[in-house]
Amino acid sequence: MKILTVNGGSSSLKFNAIELPEEKELISGYFEKIGLEGSFYNIKINGEKVKHEVPLKNHMDAVEYLKKELFDNHIIESLDEIDGVGHRIVHGGDKFDHSVLVTDEVIKELDSVVDLAPLHNPPMVECIKAFKNIMPDTPMVVVFDTAFHQSMDIEEYLYPVPYEWYTEYGVRKYGFHGTSHRYIAKSAAELLGRDDLKIISCHIGSGASVCAIDAGKVVDTSMGFTPLAGVMMGTRSGDVDPSIIPYVMKKTGETCEEVVNDLNKKSGLLGVSGVSNDSRDIEDGIANGNERCVLAQNIFCKKVANYIAMYNNELNGADVIVLTAGLGENSSATRAGILKNIASLGVKLDESVNNFRGETRKITTEDSKIPVYVIPTNEELMIALDTYEIISNQ
Ligand code: ADP
Repeated sequence: MKILTVNGGSSSLKFNAIELPEEKELISGYFEKIGLEGSFYNIKINGEKVKHEVPLKNHMDAVEYLKKELFDNHIIESLDEIDGVGHRIVHGGDKFDHSVLVTDEVIKELDSVVDLAPLHNPPMVECIKAFKNIMPDTPMVVVFDTAFHQSMDIEEYLYPVPYEWYTEYGVRKYGFHGTSHRYIAKSAAELLGRDDLKIISCHIGSGASVCAIDAGKVVDTSMGFTPLAGVMMGTRSGDVDPSIIPYVMKKTGETCEEVVNDLNKKSGLLGVSGVSNDSRDIEDGIANGNERCVLAQNIFCKKVANYIAMYNNELNGADVIVLTAGLGENSSATRAGILKNIASLGVKLDESVNNFRGETRKITTEDSKIPVYVIPTNEELMIALDTYEIISNQ
């Protein structure tokens, strides 16, 4: 079966075509600056990447180019050869605890959770409509970033705020990166040959979250009502005292939205270093003696380590810790920094194996009390597998 996975942002669209059950990637690409000046797209096939600069007025235009690339690269001869399309959706509220087939009813339900993700969900729904337009009879599936975390208990997801905020307005912890954490839980279970594992999964890319998983069920996760909460990230602050917001509003004259935007876009590694949100630039800064880069890196590693320690407590002792995503898979300095800060858990880094990128590997010594693995995440494969399973059982 040929499955397309789609990840639509407000001005972007990423896609992969995957052959299942072989799990073979056929082609992938991403469209950027949709609706803006300088729009373009990249296509990757057989390890080669080609960039095309084209005007993209809206997501429909992007989908038309995507279709053209599928034909031109002989991935398909007819659209009927696409057996299903899996769409990533950021927020499913508390309505969706697993991936579902797209129906009119589901689209209505998605509209009803728009308030919770006003920036993210609408372009994703636009993408579903754009694909429905060119392939009205192809089954489509939606896969939610929040769904995996719906297995959390109320003691973990309820904030200690007026209870009516929860019952009336849906204020609670939802958690994000669920598709990645679920992929890690599945991969760790396969790797270690156990399905009862207590796992601390650390997805540390430009967004970052830590998740405590017990036998496939989420016990707790660091992102919250929105993806702003939890550990420090590339441009996001992670947890801060909310009283900072009215204080900075008074001092700067900014609106509440502007200050929250600062917490989302101008904080984290970028805010502390003043250099970049990208850990490669931070590492260069450290090599050149930039003290704020050193500070940014140290705070980042401590924040992640502190969540690991907290979740080790919540799990009553983890069996395994997994590092994944951009930094987890590629930055040996970040891995070493995090592990140094969880030495109190008896975790011991094996420095002789830590210098690598993008592969599955154990990075702790044999006598480390908890083994730590690097496992590259694959959210697209997870979306494709869900789509494959749902349409196969239709
Ligand atoms: P997202 O999918 O959320 O955009 P990724 O998981 O791809 O993010 O992570 C991107 C981040 O990973 C980059 O901003 C950078 O900080 C980090 N990263 C990627 N490659 C490397 C590398 N070779 N060394 C250090 N950090 C890296």
